[in-house]
Amino acid sequence: MRAVTILGSTGSIGRNTLDVIRRWPDRFRVYALVAGCNVDELARQIVEFRPRLAVVATENGWRLLQERLEQLGLPRSQWPELAWGPQAYVAASTAPEVDVVISAIVGIAGLEATYRAVELGKRVGLANKETLVAGGKLVMGAARKAGTELIPVDSEHSGVYQCLKAGRHSEIARLILTASGGPFRNTPKEALHSVTPEQALQHPTWKMGKRITIDSATLMNKGFEVIEAHWLFDVRPDQIQVLIHPQSSVHALVEFRDGSVIAQISVTDMRMPIQYALTYPERADAPVPRYDWTVPRTWQFEPPDLDRFPLLRLAYQALETGRSAPCTLNAADEVAVEAFLSGAIRFPGIAEVVEETLQRVPTRELESIEQVLAMDAESRRVARELVLQRSTRSTGQIVSA
Ligand code: NDP
Repeated sequence: MRAVTILGSTGSIGRNTLDVIRRWPDRFRVYALVAGCNVDELARQIVEFRPRLAVVATENGWRLLQERLEQLGLPRSQWPELAWGPQAYVAASTAPEVDVVISAIVGIAGLEATYRAVELGKRVGLANKETLVAGGKLVMGAARKAGTELIPVDSEHSGVYQCLKAGRHSEIARLILTASGGPFRNTPKEALHSVTPEQALQHPTWKMGKRITIDSATLMNKGFEVIEAHWLFDVRPDQIQVLIHPQSSVHALVEFRDGSVIAQISVTDMRMPIQYALTYPERADAPVPRYDWTVPRTWQFEPPDLDRFPLLRLAYQALETGRSAPCTLNAADEVAVEAFLSGAIRFPGIAEVVEETLQRVPTRELESIEQVLAMDAESRRVARELVLQRSTRSTGQIVSA
């Protein structure tokens, strides 16, 4: 029986992880659930999964969670330990009882708890991209030192991870990550200026949290995945290619030096890679219906348009620049996405804010989590200034692209 901590249990990945665990009560039990502010969902999860520890982001959330548990009628004697704040996230991921940590807090907030679990050599199923984008060198260094492997949860990286079983590292020619292309795959450049957050949140194939959905619409998400792949699989940026594949069925391909290409294909459902990360190296029965190969289907593949989606190009540049550039890329994007969602900037303004932040914030080596967090904070400050300039410029109307 493996004890699991879920960082971000109330989110899209967190709920899917609990759904997988629900199917395997004799294989997994929940040790800790960590959430942000959705105490209603967390309280329901506590009642169903009975963790030993439950954590929320703030003291106020911690009080609200107690009220909810009382309302749900769970006797106090059956409550888990309740805690709040980042130190409690670390306690949840590093407790000696924990075998597996699923890292699925969105943004930089999950970095330290993930890093500390890696340092201790725990099995970490990594969904949170920011961990490797912002602190890749540090986290992979810790994994090597602890002799542990990060198991990717992101479908593309899970795909690569599985394809790589077909050959040796020295035989890899390139990795190919697929992207759905998002809701604006066929939208002309001029029309991107007027797309709304509601339109951008309509992802054609995946149901995910808001930030990653917007990042998929700008292709920033694929840029983060390129950076993540570089760290996870120890390959050069020029060995990582992105292909638009609107059906999101082939998640990744690996081309070996003899020209053979191995593809990983599965239905578009995150429970597949989540379960693989939980059960690896074993495979368990599929948690979702399989492909019906008797139905005719057509799959398309096309190169991405870096002119309409410049954030993918910026991600490659940040990876080439190295040092703290990817950390700044992520921080600026998080600020810009929030600004777009709140109506402060337009869609093309996301890339503008990120590009200008990268130009303004000098890069440096990041040797510790504290330095990563400081660089993240500095980059956010610059990005916020740029957002403010854009949203208040000229007549006070929204101006960006
Ligand atoms: P969601 O927005 O659905 O969920 C985010 C989770 O993080 C929620 O549980 C939220 O809690 C929690 N959270 C947010 N801020 C804090 C904080 N300060 N402290 C503690 N918890 C916090 O995101 P997703 O599940 O879609 O994505 C999670 C991560 O996984 C992201 O990094 C994303 O890029 C990555 N990922 C997601 C995929 C997907 O299919 N969804 C695919 C591949 C990667 P609450 O809601 O309670 O506030």
